[in-house]
Amino acid sequence: MLYSVIADTYEKIEGTTKRLEIIDYLVDLFKKTDIDLIDKVVYLTQGKLYPDYMGVEIGVAEKLAIRAIGLATGKDLEKIRIIYKKIGDIGSAAEEVLKSRIQATLFEEQLTVETVYKTLEKIAKTSGPGSLDIKLKHISSLFNNATPKEAKYIVRTITGKLRLGVADYTVLDALAVAFTGDKSNRPVLERSYNLSSDLGAIAETVASEGLESVKRFKITVNKPIRPMLAERLETAQEIVEKLEGRCAAEYKLDGERIQAHKDVSSVTLFSRRLENITGHYPDVRDLVRKNLKADKAIAEAECVAVNLDTGKLLPFQDLMHRRRKYGIKKAMETYPVSLFFFDILYVDGEDLTQKPYSERRKRLEQLITQDDRVKVVPGIYSDDPKEIENFLEEAIVNGCEGLMVKDTKGIYRAGAREFSWIKLKREYRSELGDSFDLVIVGAFHGRGRRAGRYGAFLLTAYDKDVDIFRSVSKIGTGFTDESLEKFPKILAPYKIDHMHARVDSKLEADIWFVPQIIIEVIASEITISPIHTCCMNAIRKGSGLALRFPKFTGRLRDDKAPEDATTVNEILEIYKGQLKRVASRT
Ligand code: AMP
Repeated sequence: MLYSVIADTYEKIEGTTKRLEIIDYLVDLFKKTDIDLIDKVVYLTQGKLYPDYMGVEIGVAEKLAIRAIGLATGKDLEKIRIIYKKIGDIGSAAEEVLKSRIQATLFEEQLTVETVYKTLEKIAKTSGPGSLDIKLKHISSLFNNATPKEAKYIVRTITGKLRLGVADYTVLDALAVAFTGDKSNRPVLERSYNLSSDLGAIAETVASEGLESVKRFKITVNKPIRPMLAERLETAQEIVEKLEGRCAAEYKLDGERIQAHKDVSSVTLFSRRLENITGHYPDVRDLVRKNLKADKAIAEAECVAVNLDTGKLLPFQDLMHRRRKYGIKKAMETYPVSLFFFDILYVDGEDLTQKPYSERRKRLEQLITQDDRVKVVPGIYSDDPKEIENFLEEAIVNGCEGLMVKDTKGIYRAGAREFSWIKLKREYRSELGDSFDLVIVGAFHGRGRRAGRYGAFLLTAYDKDVDIFRSVSKIGTGFTDESLEKFPKILAPYKIDHMHARVDSKLEADIWFVPQIIIEVIASEITISPIHTCCMNAIRKGSGLALRFPKFTGRLRDDKAPEDATTVNEILEIYKGQLKRVASRT
C-alpha cells in the first residue's frame, strides 16, 4: 500500500474542521487499506506506532529532522533552518525544501506504508551510543524516496507534531462505517476499545473477522481497561434519590489512581491516563504482588502518600514527588505510599466487570490481604442521607477529599462517566467551592504588567457525545508571575494557527492550541452567558453557561487526558443544583 494514500487523506483532513467530513475521509482510507495493515494505519493516523499504553514514542528532535533533510537533499543546514523559522512548521519546511530538490532528482521508488512503518519502528527502538547517526540514516532514507507532501507528514509524525485532531471516537465511528456499513455499531466497537485501549487491535478484528468477533473481545491482563468515571451531585439527599437508595459510600482519597495488572509474578501498573507507571512505583508493584491473592488479576486502587510514623494520609502534592524519572529509590523512602483498593475487574480468567458492585466488593475483600500499607477502601452501605453525611465528615477528618457513592447494583462500565459512581465533596453544601478541570484551547495577549506574555486563557469543558470542547470561561485570575512564565513553555508544543477542529467557541482567541493541557479552576457560580458555547440552548435559547469569577488554583492536571476534563453535562448538573439551592433559600 502506497504511503501517498495516507498522505493524501491527511491533507484532506487538515483542510476541514467538520467532524463528519473527517469521518468520511477516514472511512475512505480504511476501505483502501490492506487488512494486514489496518492496525498500523490506525496508529499512524493518530501519530503513533502502537497503542498509548505501550509508551513507545518515535521522539525525534527537530534538530535531527533538519539534519536528515539536509542529508537527503544536499541543502545547507543553515538555509533549512531559515526556511523553518520563516514557515514556523517543521513539516511544511521539509515539504518546501524537498520541492526544490524534486526538480533536480527523480525519486527512485514510491514509498509504501510498510516501509514507512518499519523504518519508524526502527527509529523508535534505536537507543544508546551512536543512535543519533543510525536514526539520521533511517530518516534520510525515507526522504530519499518521499514526495514533498509525504516528507511533510513523515517529519510531523517523527517529531510528534502530526496533530490531525482525529480522536479515538472519530476513528471508532469510521471503523464502524467502513467495516460494518453502519455507524450505529460504534457502541460495540467502543465497548471493546474500553476493555482493551487498543484501537489497532479492534480495527484488525472488525476488518478481518467482523462485528461478531468484536463482541467476543475479552479482557487481557497487561492491556489496560479504560477507567470508569464518576459524575457528581451536591448533597447526600440528591445522591440517595438518584440511586434510589442503592448506595455504597466509600472514602474518596486524594491520590493517584492505579490500575494494577498481576500476571503470576509480574505486575504492571497503569495510570488513569493508561500510561505504564510501574517504574515510578516499585514499592506499589511489590505490595500488589504480595497482597493481591490471585495468579492473574486486574484491580484498581488509589495510591496515597502517607506518613508511616503517624499513619496520616498526606495531600496529593506530596505524592507528586513520586512522578520522577531519576532518584526513584530516594523518593520512595522520602514519600512512602499506601494503597487503597476500590475495585476488582478480572480474576483468573473471570471478567468481573459485568458483576454488580456489591459482588465485586465482596470478591475484593476476599482477595486483598490487608495490612498497614494495603487496605480495601473504607465504605458503608446506607440509604440514609444523614448517615452518609456523617460518613463524609469522618472521611474528611481522615484526610479524604470526600466520598465516592456507588450504585450497589452497578456494573463496571469501562470508560463511562455515569451516575453509577457519584462524587460527594463537602464544599458543595456551602457554595460552589468545587473545582473544575478545564482544557486550555486559546490564549489572549497580556497587557500592562503582563505585556509580552499571555494575559488570559480560553477554557473549555468536554462534550463527550460529539467529542467537542466547548468554551466555558475566559480566565485571567489566580496566575502567579511564576506560572505565567511557565505557561508559554507548556503550551508551545500545542500552538496552532487556527481554532482546533474539536473546539467550539464564539470567542476569538489571539493564539489557539490543540486541546491538551488541563488546569484546575474554581468559580463563584455558573451563569447564563451569550458568549460561551457550553450547554448552548440547554437553559436559554441562544445562550450557554459560563463560570463566574473563575480563578486558577495553581494545579495543572497533567494526570488527566483532555477527554477526562469536566464535561458539559456536569456543568449543567451543577447549574441546576445551584438553582435548587437558591429556590430552597427563598
Ligand atoms: P475526579 O478525579 O475528581 O473525577 O474523581 C475520580 C477519581 O477519584 C478517580 O479517578 C480515583 O482516582 C479517585 N478515587 C478516590 N477514591 C476512590 C474510590 N473509593 N472509588 C473510585 N475512585 C476513587
